[in-house]
Amino acid sequence: MMDATRQSEALRPILVWFRNDLRLSDNPALAAAVASGRPVIPVLVDDRSPERRPRGAASAWWLDRSLDALAQSLHARGSRLILRSGDATKVVLALVAETKAHAVYWNRLYAADQIARDSQLKSTLRAAGVEVKSFNSALLVEPFEIVNGSGQPFKVFTPFWRAARGQIRGQMQIPPAAPTSDTLIAPAHWPSSETKADWRLSPQNPDWSQGFVDWRPGEAGAQTALQVFLDRAADQYGARRDYMADAATSRLSPHLAFGEIGTRQIWRAVMAAQERRPEAGASLDKFLSEIGWREFSHHLLYQFPDLERRAFKSSYDAFPWRSDPKALRAWKRGQTGYPLVDAGMRELWTTGYMHNRARMICASFLVKHLLIDWRDGEAHFWDTLVDADRANNAAGWQWVAGSGADAAPYFRIFSPMGQGERFDAEGGYVRRWVPELARLPNGALHAPWLAEANVLQAAGVRLGETYPLPIVDHSYARQRALDALASLKAADA
Ligand SMILES: Cc1cc2nc3c(=O)[nH]c(=O)nc-3n(C[C@H](O)[C@H](O)[C@H](O)COP(=O)(O)OP(=O)(O)OC[C@H]3O[C@@H](n4cnc5c(N)ncnc54)[C@H](O)[C@@H]3O)c2cc1C
Repeated sequence: MMDATRQSEALRPILVWFRNDLRLSDNPALAAAVASGRPVIPVLVDDRSPERRPRGAASAWWLDRSLDALAQSLHARGSRLILRSGDATKVVLALVAETKAHAVYWNRLYAADQIARDSQLKSTLRAAGVEVKSFNSALLVEPFEIVNGSGQPFKVFTPFWRAARGQIRGQMQIPPAAPTSDTLIAPAHWPSSETKADWRLSPQNPDWSQGFVDWRPGEAGAQTALQVFLDRAADQYGARRDYMADAATSRLSPHLAFGEIGTRQIWRAVMAAQERRPEAGASLDKFLSEIGWREFSHHLLYQFPDLERRAFKSSYDAFPWRSDPKALRAWKRGQTGYPLVDAGMRELWTTGYMHNRARMICASFLVKHLLIDWRDGEAHFWDTLVDADRANNAAGWQWVAGSGADAAPYFRIFSPMGQGERFDAEGGYVRRWVPELARLPNGALHAPWLAEANVLQAAGVRLGETYPLPIVDHSYARQRALDALASLKAADA
């Protein structure tokens, strides 16, 4: 009798709650569940609680495919992915009751509403005698593991990264978390699953995702992207990462945003590549420091939970933003009359991605040339980026706006023309995304309104007809932005 009870206790499953960690390898929550020897029930909840930030349309497109990949990988190991929707807390509690789960394991998230939800759920489950364990799958160093010499969170990137790197080296002695077997033990009874098609994640009418074809969502796609980068681009990363027409960056961002690959996996692969090819060492260090910016952004979101809504530097709360729906629309559609800005915004609209330098230029144009609130830009990026990430997006926007931690100074106003001449001198990026200007010579490409009439005519460009005139004059906009900053400083004094 006793044995039978013990046996049935051992058969009580562990729910592994997948969130932004859609991978099987180096997934600590899954690895711990597998190591327990109990049946494992992988679950993903489409959390529709009003407290959650609704995901953007491009992220939903990605999730649709990433879930297919995850479900297939689980299937190949004799398992399944159980899909449920609703208020995540209620859904998980209901599943625990339904499956008589022994435990729930998950990997941690860092936005305040997610932390509050998870802590509350943890207490409720533990009070009910259900084991709960959470793990780190997303970061090299978690925010609560690192503080500066005075015990305060870092607010400046360079010392943050110096301290973080030191800690990471130690942590990397710990072997990677991996499921120990090729098969996951299935429960005696699978709970029912919703059908993903009912979630309508991908666009239907119209289907705007044709330009997303080059992406390969899922864990295998992430590993391929890393390998391609290390094999082909890593040596050039340091020197070429800012050149928008080059394929010099990793394009790992959506894979990282969905946790299809972990930063510890990237770190290890980079260390191995540096050993094989010491000549790529400095370039790869630069790459790791960009992963460091991702870490820093997550730390900021954790330490400053309002990062998505409020200026990190509170003096910027009083910034005199303008309301200009027409200009905002022109910016979103890539119709500002500034070729580089329009190229970036169209790349985003078409592919769900934008090169980092173009992000800085387009974001700067919105907040400085147009004086439109960075939150409007953040929301648009959130909806349209396949790599939309609460920490990176908010930190990126605040960095550009000047209101963030360790931000670009407000008086440094990007000139889209100067940036174009420097980082798209041959015009490959603008020609690709703004084809109506493709026949302009390089000298006229980044400022067509300054070109001679015969040059425009020869290229088939009629400003105001085939391509817009600038929606705002650069020198005027620059001065207006500086005046706005001066007014902020005066109010602050
Ligand atoms: C206004 C603005 C908004 C942004 N919004 C997002 C966002 O929503 N999601 C997102 O992942 N990144 C965002 N970024 C950061 C950066 O532009 C992208 O991470 C990068 O362009 C992704 O391309 P990649 O994977 O080829 O990058 P790589 O250059 O190959 O870098 C490798 C990885 O490092 C991280 N990384 C690189 N640059 C940054 C950075 N500046 N800040 C934080 N992490 C970085 C990313 O995870 C990236 O995948 C934003 C930047 C700006 C200026």
